[in-house]
Order: sequence, then C-alpha cells, then structure tokens
Amino acid sequence: MQTTFGTGQPGKDNTDLAFTDPLTGLGNHRRFFDKVDRLISDRADDPAPFTVGILDLDGFKPINDLFGHKAGDDILIQVAMRLRASMDGHSTVCRIGADEFAFLYPMVFSEEQAAEKSRMLIEILSAPYDVGERTARLSASVGCSLFYSGDETTEILINKAETALYHAKRSGRGRVVVYTREMEEAAKRVTRIEQALRRAVSAGEVEPHFQPIVDLSTRRTIGFETLARWSDRDLGMVPPSVFIPIAEERGIIGPLSQLVLRKATEAARSWPKDLFLSFNLSPSQLVDQNTGLHILAILERTGFDPHRLEIEITETGLMTDPASAEKIVEDLRRVGIRVSLDDFGTGQSSLGRLREFHFDKLKIDRAFVSSILDDRPSEHIIRAILAMCEGLGMDVVAEGIEEEAQADRLVQFGCAGGQGYLFGKPVDADATLGYLRDSYRGALRAKAI
Ligand code: C2E
Ligand code: MG
Ligand code: MG
Repeated sequence: MQTTFGTGQPGKDNTDLAFTDPLTGLGNHRRFFDKVDRLISDRADDPAPFTVGILDLDGFKPINDLFGHKAGDDILIQVAMRLRASMDGHSTVCRIGADEFAFLYPMVFSEEQAAEKSRMLIEILSAPYDVGERTARLSASVGCSLFYSGDETTEILINKAETALYHAKRSGRGRVVVYTREMEEAAKRVTRIEQALRRAVSAGEVEPHFQPIVDLSTRRTIGFETLARWSDRDLGMVPPSVFIPIAEERGIIGPLSQLVLRKATEAARSWPKDLFLSFNLSPSQLVDQNTGLHILAILERTGFDPHRLEIEITETGLMTDPASAEKIVEDLRRVGIRVSLDDFGTGQSSLGRLREFHFDKLKIDRAFVSSILDDRPSEHIIRAILAMCEGLGMDVVAEGIEEEAQADRLVQFGCAGGQGYLFGKPVDADATLGYLRDSYRGALRAKAI
C-alpha cells in the first residue's frame, strides 16, 4: 500500500518528520500503521502469520507528577532506547501515544512466541531509570494480536491488540495478553451494554432501589442506601457490578448518577425526616470537579436537605487523584453532606488515608462480616476497626449481615450500625414506602402518609 504523507513537500526530511516522534526519535503512529500496511501487502502471497503488540507503561502518570515533566520525558527517552535496543533486524518499535509504544514482529508466528517476546520487553523495562539523583521503576502491560488471514486490515489488527491490552491492564500490572476470539465476544457484549445503557439513561430508565440501614441494638431503621437497578428489554436485568464499571469506563457514570440521585431524593422526600439517604459515588466522579456542583444542583431542584444525604466513596476513589477528591469532598461537607468510606478492608486499604481524610462513617466490608462466626482473624479485624472508629470519632456500619448470629456478635463487639439481607434487601421506591409504613406505622399514621 502506498502512503502519501509528505507528498508535495520537497526533500526527504519533511516526510521523515511526519513519521517520527520528536521526543524519542522512534517512528510515530503513522510510521507504525505504514509498516503494518506494507507487511500485510507483502504477506498477501505468503501465509506466514506475524505479530503486532502495544505496550503501555503502568503508573507513568504518577511518576510524571512526582518527578516533573522533564524527568517524565527523560524516562520516555530511556524506555525508547531500551525498546529499540531489544529489536532485531526485522522488527520495529514506534511510540504511538504519550506512554504507549507499538511493536511489529514479522517473524513471530505463534501466540506463545508473542507472549514470550512481550514478557522479555517488560523485563527489560523493569530495570531502574535514572532521574537526576534518584531512580524510578516502571512496569508495563502488553496486548498482542496475530495476523492470520488476508482479510484483516491494519486497523482491525491494532484494535485487537488494544483490546488485549485493555484485558492485560484490567488484570493487574506487568501482564501480557494475546488477543483471543472470546475477548472479541466480551468486547462486543460490553459495547452492546454500553449502547443500551446510554439509551436507558437518556430515557430515564435506571431506577434507585433502597436498602435499609439499621441501629443494630434497637433494629430501628436509620437510613437507606441507594442502589442503582437497570432492566433492559433485550438484555434483561443487568447487575450494577456489570453496568457501573462500564458506565465508568465509557463516560456514562455522570449522567447515570445524576438520574439516580434525582429519583432517589424525590422518593426520599416523603420519608420521615430523621432518615438519611446514602448514595454511592464512583472513583471517576471524584476526579471530575463538576461532581459537587451537579449534586448540589439536584438537591436544590428536589428540595432535599443536604444534611440528610451521605456520600459513599471507596479508597480506590481517593487514590487516583487525592487532591481533586479532597476538594470535592470538602465542598460537599461544607453544605452538610456526610461522607462514608465504603467497603473498608478490601482493596488497597491504607490506614494513612484515615489520617489525611476525615470521614463521618466507615462501612465494614461484607467479606469480614460473612466470616465473623467461623473465622478468628475476621473477628479480630472487625474489633480492631471498631476500636479505631471509636478513637477517630467515626460512625460504623457493618455491611452484608445475613444471619441473626452475625448481628448478635456485632452488637456484642459494640458495632452500632448494620445493613444486610437480614434487615431488608434493596427494593424500589414504592416497596420502600410499604416497608416504612410497616415499621413506622404509629408515627406515619399521625403524618397520614
Ligand atoms: P456497595 O456500595 O458496597 O453496595 C452493597 C452491595 O451489597 C449491594 O450490591 C447490595 O445489594 C449488596 N448486599 C447488601 N446486603 C447484602 C447481604 O446481606 N448479602 C449479600 N450477598 N449482598 C448484600 P449491588 O446492589 O449489586 O451493588 C454492587 C455495587 O455497585 C455497590 O456496592 C456499589 O459499589 C455499586 N453501585 C450500586 N449502585 C450504584 C450507583 O448508583 N452509583 C455508583 N457509583 N455505584 C453503585
Ligand atoms: Mg455502598
Ligand atoms: Mg459497600
């Protein structure tokens, strides 16, 4: 295939510039596409497969932020030098994005070989980098795809490598994934869910359900957690553990969240005034400075008292950009919204976080509660968390209580709040009113709801 970049410009240099990454001197994305295009035409009469791969540096952004942009550039140059040095005469490496490199191995014919070569690249990049007086370490993830037949285009091949890279990144740092058919199926399913979800959000079809949170010693309901529910005509009921991550990745979480919060606060207006409403915020919303404004605008519109609202965030949400998260949390707290730390004890728990951030409440993850009766370590961990919360002046809610014996044990340890199927599953707004009518019959009769 003929490329036409630079035509009409005299001399070779302009063409070279258009194909070169100025920082590292490697070829750029145009060079890479061009090389793959050419190899595909060369292979038209030769059935031998070949490999393309995309390598993405893990955690480059924090290094850039920590050491500065100049140091970031120096590291990229060193990365480029190592990658170039590791290529043989047939192979090519180009820089196709800020911290993304692509390689082409014309003589790598099998998935095993592709994975092995990629692991070698990761190994080479894992040695320390000089940053002035200091050193930094990096890891990288790689996605590869193999060219097998004549009907594949460069774009399809690179998209497949991107899909494999996405899977590699999701499974942790320093991983290599070679593209498979199942990945294509999974990617198609994600796209179908994404499209259906976009439609559902604009049509207002995602609903809040509410799960009671109780005072463990009296069993009185003190508030409800809002949990998003979505049922699609064709896909059926899609659980939040599936659609929330897709909404986050595909940029739908903002509008989805606003829709659910609006409906939830409208529903909660008719509840007794001493009940709070709790609402989950996703990690990506804590990076978006408009999140606070959107929440406040919704409260204003629905007339819901901010003092009755609690926001649940996870530690992951605080890690991406702590300064941004802190600002959003402070803005919310200023108008009286309370902030809970959700799923405590899982993920990357750091006690340091509890010193930097002030939380009003901590929610102990279901994983500890479900094993409290038969697992000594869980019991000790829960007791330690309770003692710590008392010292730090935080309320506590234990999540996922399913059995009386678990509730009893938690009360015995001094845990004040509880949530779980034992007290009620998440149900829609109407059923929640029914639940409140039952448990508040006397009080509500007077208010004639
Ligand atoms: P989460 O915030 O930790 O919510 C608690 C989850 O535990 C809910 O799952 C709830 O239904 C489930 N659960 C409660 N009690 C029990 C129990 O006794 N046993 C068992 N096995 N499970 C119990 P759900 O509704 O599937 O939600 C999953 C996650 O999705 C939530 O975890 C939250 O992180 C996220 N999510 C749900 N709705 C929203 C939303 O509107 N916005 C955002 N950003 N995330 C949401
Ligand atoms: Mg929650
Ligand atoms: Mg939770």
